[in-house]
Amino acid sequence: MDRLSERIRKLPRYLFAEIDKKVKAAREKGVDVISLGIGDPDAPTPDYIIKRMQEEVARASNHNYPPDQGLAEFRQAVADYYLRRHGVTLDPQHEVLPLIGSKEGIAHIAFCFTDAGDVNLVPDPGYPVYGISTLFAGGTPYLLPLLQENAFLPDLESIPVEIARKAKIMYLNYPNNPTGAVAPLHFFRQAVEFARQYNLLICHDAAYSEIGYDHYRPISFLEAEGARDVAIEFGSLSKTFNMTGWRLGYAVGNRTAVEALYRFKTNLDSGVFKAIQYAGVEALVNPQREEFLRSMRELYQRRRDIAVKALSEAGWPVEPPRGTIYLWAPVPAGFTSAEFVSHILDETGVVLTPGRGFGEYGEGYFRIALTVAEERLQEAMERIKKVAKFN
Ligand SMILES: *Cc1c(COP(=O)(O)O)cnc(C)c1O
Repeated sequence: MDRLSERIRKLPRYLFAEIDKKVKAAREKGVDVISLGIGDPDAPTPDYIIKRMQEEVARASNHNYPPDQGLAEFRQAVADYYLRRHGVTLDPQHEVLPLIGSKEGIAHIAFCFTDAGDVNLVPDPGYPVYGISTLFAGGTPYLLPLLQENAFLPDLESIPVEIARKAKIMYLNYPNNPTGAVAPLHFFRQAVEFARQYNLLICHDAAYSEIGYDHYRPISFLEAEGARDVAIEFGSLSKTFNMTGWRLGYAVGNRTAVEALYRFKTNLDSGVFKAIQYAGVEALVNPQREEFLRSMRELYQRRRDIAVKALSEAGWPVEPPRGTIYLWAPVPAGFTSAEFVSHILDETGVVLTPGRGFGEYGEGYFRIALTVAEERLQEAMERIKKVAKFN
């Protein structure tokens, strides 16, 4: 039996397969591999969240199906967080929806707005889900290059009018994975105008909403005036609270979009385990969160500074990013991104991510994930410095 669907057949080959193979081979040979490849926080979920989970998991009343729209307590906690943190008022009944991790919602929103023949505007380099879900829904991605000379913001004015007219969704993600760029409020305002003009939905991916450095606090897309008329924003507890494995996120914003996603999801999944939603409430409302979030920002900022310093010493022109857990840097002349990453792995046992893995405009760059302890990161950077220079 091999009658696979076109959508599966057409999936791009897994770009990291080659690297994964090499990493495995290196480990088998006894190489001390240091992986700066994965965007998965290394620190544990804080105790105050685990404690609440332990209580809730033991409660029989949490063992059945959760309500379709999610727990009212969780929706309220998200609304409270938006008011406190962004000054944005949300109706927890109609403008907040829990997700099984934000990836799930990001992937499914395309199915609510995109028909065969439609176009979605997809930033490149970017999180691969925007383009893939567009293809799954029968649409065509139109790439928005994120270029260093534009501070990794898409140039909305360069989008051809006939493409903009056909477009149903524009995806945005700030603080940005993989570039570490952040967006100013005036860019979000410009995006709202664009969305109004062409009657399209903005999907803003805010996975790094709490990870900002040098006193920068990431803004919500919904802070832009009129955003609620045109935008849905996806948030996640994964990176913020070291809860990637728990699978908890949320969608907020435009009612029509939130309601459509809700209707789609009730036909596909049955929600998030109630105990996890209660743990999510705890994550967002417990006063200990502030201290915890500060400690995480400080931890990543120290790591960022170690990596930036080492790269600068080796001649790299890197600006310290103001958000995310990544560093995005150009590969030296004479290498493709895949060749450079491969070279570093062979010579040093350090795993980097080739920029090409995030799209064609990622070519020429590599990504460092700040997800290992300081000593290990220091060691990794020393090894890289010994074999590579930026020229
Ligand atoms: C990690 C990540 C996500 C997915 O997070 P989950 O909530 O764990 O599904 C979404 N977008 C970006 C840009 C990410 O880096």
